[in-house]
Parts: sequence; C-alpha cells; structure tokens
Amino acid sequence: ALKTRFAPSPSGLLHLGNIRTALFNALLARRSRGLFLLRIEDTDQERSSEEYVVALMEDLRWLALEWQEGPKAGGEAGPYRQSQRSIVYQTNFQRLEAEKLAYPCFCSQEELERVRKRQLAAGQAPRYPGTCARLSPDEVESKLAAGFKSALRFRVPSLTTIEFEDLVRGPQRFAAGDIGDFIIRRTDGSPAFFFSNALDDALMGVTHVLRGEDHLTNTPRQILLLQALDLPIPRYGHIAMIVSRDGAPLSKRHGSRSVRELREAGYLPEALCNYLARLGHHYEDSGFLDLDTLAAQFDLARLGRAPARFDPQQLHHWQREALARCELDTLGRWLAPVTASRVPVDKYQDFIEAVRPNVVLPEDALHWAKILFSEELVLEDGVLPIIHEAGAQFFTQALAAIDDCGTDFKALTAQLKQTTGAKGRLLFLPLRAAFTGELDGPELARLLPLMGAVQARQRLQNCLH
Ligand code: GLU
Repeated sequence: ALKTRFAPSPSGLLHLGNIRTALFNALLARRSRGLFLLRIEDTDQERSSEEYVVALMEDLRWLALEWQEGPKAGGEAGPYRQSQRSIVYQTNFQRLEAEKLAYPCFCSQEELERVRKRQLAAGQAPRYPGTCARLSPDEVESKLAAGFKSALRFRVPSLTTIEFEDLVRGPQRFAAGDIGDFIIRRTDGSPAFFFSNALDDALMGVTHVLRGEDHLTNTPRQILLLQALDLPIPRYGHIAMIVSRDGAPLSKRHGSRSVRELREAGYLPEALCNYLARLGHHYEDSGFLDLDTLAAQFDLARLGRAPARFDPQQLHHWQREALARCELDTLGRWLAPVTASRVPVDKYQDFIEAVRPNVVLPEDALHWAKILFSEELVLEDGVLPIIHEAGAQFFTQALAAIDDCGTDFKALTAQLKQTTGAKGRLLFLPLRAAFTGELDGPELARLLPLMGAVQARQRLQNCLH
C-alpha cells in the first residue's frame, strides 16, 4: 500500500512551504487510500524544541491533516521521533562500517575548510578528497586509541551513476564521482540528515516522498545509502518552491507567515487548504473543494515544475469562499472573540448578517463594529469632498427625513429623494459617507437600524458644520 510522510524538523513554527508539503503528501495518501505518516526529525538537540513539536501537531490537526502513523497515532515502525531511534542508527552505522562501506574520519573542521578553499580556488566543486578513506586499519586503531574524535563517512562508489525517475521532474541522473564521501554520523555521535532521513523512510515503509526541490541533490546520496544497506528505495518527487510575486524566496516581507499566525489572524483551515493545494498543483475545478475532493482530484502529473508564486489576494479569495459556506452561527462564534465586547447582544445576529459580505478576517468585523457602535468616526480619504458636494441643504433634509422615518432606510431615502431631487449615486453616496465615513461597505439598509437613530442623527448633524 502507498505510504507518504511528513518529516518536519521542530526548529520553528511551520510556515506555508512546510504545510504545503504536508498537504500534498496527505492528499496523495488519501487519494490512494494509503497512509500518511508523521515523523519528527529532532536529531539536532540544540535547535529542536518540544514547543515546536506540540505546535506542528496542532497545526496539522487544525488543517485536518491527520496522520495515521506517527507520534500519538502509533504504528509498528516506531518510535517516530528520531531522538528516540539512536539504537536503530547505531546498528546500521556498525553494519556499514563492518562491511567497509563507511569509515571513520578524523579530519578537523579547519582541515576540511582548507581543502574546500583550495578546491574552490582551483575552480573545482568542493568535495571530500578521501583523506581518511586511505588510512590503514592500524592507523585508525592508533588514532582511536589516542582519543581522536571521529565522524563516520559513507564511501561513495566512484564509478556509478545514480538514476531515478522523479515523480515531478522526470528522469534524473547524477554521477557518483561528483559526490564525494559524505558524513553519516557526526563527531558527537548524532546521525546526519541524509542518513536518518533515508533510513527511516525505508524502515517505516514509506513508498512516496514528496518534498521541496531544495532536497533534489540530496536524493542521489540517499539512494546510494539505501542501496548499500539493501533497503527499499521510496519514489521521490521534488516539488517546486514557493516564491514571492517578484520571484524572490518567500519571506515575511512578502506576507509569508507561519501557520499559527495565519490561524490567529482568523484564516479558516479550509481556505488555507484550498489555496495551498493549488500552489504548484493545477486543479481543473476552480471552485471551492473539500479535503476529500481535493484529494480525489490530486494528481502527481499536475504538479508544476515552475516555482509557485505566493499571492495573498488568492488566499483572500479562498477565505471568502470558505466564509460563504459558513452558517451564520458558525460565523458568529468565529467573530465573537474580536467583536462581542463591542456589539450589543440583542444586535449581534443582525450585525453578523449585515457585515458578512464585507468580512474576510475578524479584524474587518471589528472595523465595522467600531464604525457602528462607537461615537468617534474616522473619515476615509475622499469622503469629505462627497459631503461638501452634497451640501448643507441635503443633510438638513436628511435630518428631517430621519425624524420622520427613523432608521427605515427605504422610507428615509424615498422622502429625501422627493425633498432634494437627488437620486442614485448622488443620493446614496453622501449618506454612506456621512453615516460610515467610508465610500463603500455593507448595505446601509442593514447598517442604519444597527447604528440607531440617535447615532445616525448625530452623524448627519456633523455634516452641517
Ligand atoms: N526534516 C527535513 C526537513 O524538514 C525533511 C526533509 C524531507 O522531507 O525529506 O527539511
């Protein structure tokens, strides 16, 4: 059966790139009725923290990307946290060493750096020159006895080419001679990424790995390792990176935020999923889809090779789509934390109904709550000229109309039309400007009763000075 995985390193909050990788893997598993596995890559004790492990699981659950195997979910191939798998790694290090497929390396950082500089100066691609590969068993023995610290290096077979069919990018070919022997166990005994990542995929029965393009050049190393260990090699697919609209790597400045920040800002999980699923994957269906349908229509052949451009406007589009599907009650609960304290209880339902078309994020509802229920009014640019243009006469008549009709907007505008002769835009725009301080927004017929006659009168009055 097909098994995909998400293997985050808990060294920070998940951002859009991470979560899109998780999403693609989850969708692929779901569409194939396979399993989606979660593995925590926390071998770097210094940079990993429990706080981020908790946070990433929370983010995945929030997005309904449940894993069927992994921490909390269990499974036969656990433990699923690399920090708890040292024994597995040690066993395999020993195996490679016993078979002479790996050797201890005593080179110091400084030595390695010197070689690297020399190679770069000579116009060569830097790679390990094999210094310690040539040590005799006796030399190794005496260095170890003298207490020299060693790393473990994988002996790359020099004359091979590594070929594989990338699930996204098609046929790939690498010459092993270009790779150079690489470290699989660091001096401190911890496994290097290439090693633990590939070994765990194989031991955990992962069949398909979708991951960022930045890992493409790691893949030949990982394939060599798995071949040496005689373990099954998963199929790899390297997905195009997410870039900002100007093509630069995505950063905070371009509106990229962590999943947690997006949730706290009020984005809905369905909106995020609909957006991210289309970031680098083409769906024929341009409408809002639930997770099952996103999965059913997920197709490796539709993953793009070109970088995917992040566009906050698109995310807003999907947020609107997701909101349009919410029941009024759900919407009310979603907005309550930000608006409840500002909106009178008996008007809450009407308020939500009125502002709903103008709300993308909770802060938008807060904005309208302030306009409606606080006395202070900030005038948007362009509002003042509209008010001046309408003139004092217009607002005097508007006051008369509100005294006659109260907050019945239809009656009020009918009367005002008669007394002033204004109609269409010239009738509605000055009223909107006066009541809300803005040039567009929710229907005035709904806003006026919410605001109440006293407040509405006051705002017309203000236009007379
Ligand atoms: N822990 C690695 C990362 O977060 C996993 C890479 C992979 O998916 O293979 O980049």
